[in-house]
Amino acid sequence: MALVVQKYGGTSVGSTERIRQVAQRVAKTVAEGHQVVVVVSAMGKSTDDLVALAAAITDNPSTRELDMLLSTGEQVSISLLTMALQALGQPARSMTGAQVGIVTEAHHTRARILSINPERLRAALDQGEVVVVAGFQGMSSGNAADFEITTLGRGGSDTSAVALAAALGAHHCEICTDVPGILTTDPRLVPEASQMAEVTCDEMLELASLGASVLHPRAVEIARNYGIPLVVRSSWTDQPGTWVRSRPAGPRSLEGMEIARPVDGIELDLNQAKIALLQVPDRPGVAASLFGAIAEQSLPVDLIIQSIYEGNANDIAFTVQRENLGEAEATAIALYEQLSQEQRSHQEQRAHQEQPGSPAQPSVVTDARIAKVSIAGAGMIGRPGVAAQMFQSLSDAGVNIQMISTSEVKVSCLVDVDQSDRAITALCKTFDIHSSNLAPAEPADSLVTPPPVRGVALDRAQAQLAIRHVPDRPGMAARIFTLLAQHQISVDMIIQSQRCRQINGIATRDIAFTTAQADALRAQAALAELLSQMGCAELEVNSQVAKVSVVGAGMVQVAGVAARMFQALADRQINIQMIATSEIKISCLVADDQAVAALRAVHAAFDLAGDRAIEVPA
Ligand code: ADP
Ligand code: ASP
Ligand code: MG
Repeated sequence: MALVVQKYGGTSVGSTERIRQVAQRVAKTVAEGHQVVVVVSAMGKSTDDLVALAAAITDNPSTRELDMLLSTGEQVSISLLTMALQALGQPARSMTGAQVGIVTEAHHTRARILSINPERLRAALDQGEVVVVAGFQGMSSGNAADFEITTLGRGGSDTSAVALAAALGAHHCEICTDVPGILTTDPRLVPEASQMAEVTCDEMLELASLGASVLHPRAVEIARNYGIPLVVRSSWTDQPGTWVRSRPAGPRSLEGMEIARPVDGIELDLNQAKIALLQVPDRPGVAASLFGAIAEQSLPVDLIIQSIYEGNANDIAFTVQRENLGEAEATAIALYEQLSQEQRSHQEQRAHQEQPGSPAQPSVVTDARIAKVSIAGAGMIGRPGVAAQMFQSLSDAGVNIQMISTSEVKVSCLVDVDQSDRAITALCKTFDIHSSNLAPAEPADSLVTPPPVRGVALDRAQAQLAIRHVPDRPGMAARIFTLLAQHQISVDMIIQSQRCRQINGIATRDIAFTTAQADALRAQAALAELLSQMGCAELEVNSQVAKVSVVGAGMVQVAGVAARMFQALADRQINIQMIATSEIKISCLVADDQAVAALRAVHAAFDLAGDRAIEVPA
């Protein structure tokens, strides 16, 4: 007999008819000899309806009252599903988050789980009952006298389910939903999406954080940290679904479940060399030709960074293994010469036209004396202060950051190789990692041989913020991102560019990043004073952007993945506004009105389409 946690999403319990179907399915699982805990979401879109009710009363509802309101949605579905089970003769009992002992932080509307005390739940299971638990909610203190109802953030029922599976030591956790499994991308946007046979936790963490709404990223984080087998499958069929594979996890305390240790690894790569093309034209196709030429030489590229444009030019920097520097540099120079040639003939054609902001000639810069230092850990998702802490730690150690690139679960900084020891010592101390735990920068998951690209995701809820001319000295990034963290603003995709400008005799670089659109104006206001102290230009905000990403743990071993993605965008005349990469993903920022076209182009470029369209219920 195994203990199984099954979670049913909103569509799956969207009507009384569907609730009865879910009850049948749960009863069948019990009849197969299992103990079952069921976690359910609110019916259909009822959480959205509750949000709309609040908005009709006030623009600025208190978050405590919002939680009080939103948590009611799940209470409707747990009681109805329990009635449906009882009507089938299956003993069952519904329980709220508080009743099953889910204790969270006091942050309303986005609380993280601190601990779970499942004794009451276990007692009910031992009496042969199915326990039906309200997802998405908890209580802010273990003390019944003063507890508050909290919610975990939209989509949080997945997190409730996996957290309960971890606390109960369940055999596995099933996320039952309206699609047959995890697909190569969102089938609502790309009907040709096909189902993945399996995916690693690291890949799924990236996909979920980059916009694949099928799983809440925090659910994947808990599954990874506690080694919980997790499967996403259809609520209506017996098809096997898609397993999210995790490495076996060592014993881990249930205390501080979602807050302990945001960083669990520090990586150092001394074998990197950097190449930057400065002032290349900001138009579709440039990145594609550069990385196409590099791929033709079969040279693997590691980090790729393209920051914000300046005038009508851009910089693209990337790193390769040091032994490949010569070849990669020659390729970059050849492209640079071709671009300069094109530019000269372009300028000749337009000799009589005024060209404001016309770019200077491009040039190629290389540096073999760099090291990449990275912090990695699933716990940094949505936790604003972690990147800031890294930058502060490097600044305190007097280490200047030359380039920054982030993914959802990793922040990498390029630093001078002579400063790398100091950088690592400082980071190990800051994040309490023993230097013996230093992880080599190797493929993110060696469980299976992963394909170069597993899936593609789109995030349209981000805004791009750019700060030009930040003084190029230790501590600047730390100050900026610490301040944002103090305002609880989560930052994504931080990019510090290669371009270095002298402003009034001071060397400066640009820093660009993305935040949730809802936070962009707050970020601008929060930074205004600091930026004027630093003598930087104003912060530019662009909300008309979308982030399209490809994810695959196998891409590090294969040359040409970036080139293929950039070419697919260039073929559709889609300009790339910013690029950031990690070992397992490449993200490009594009104009929002080209978002879906970009997603489809990239999905097609990697041959991810299936034979049959996936049916998506209304
Ligand atoms: P639930 O209510 O069951 O939690 P969600 O709406 O949160 O369901 O998640 C399922 C939906 O996620 C699917 O209907 C699909 O439109 C969307 N989706 C986005 N990206 C993916 C993906 N990569 N694989 C599967 N579904 C995806
Ligand atoms: N009902 C909540 C929401 O709509 C939680 C969930 O469905 O996961 O966000
Ligand atoms: Mg969901």
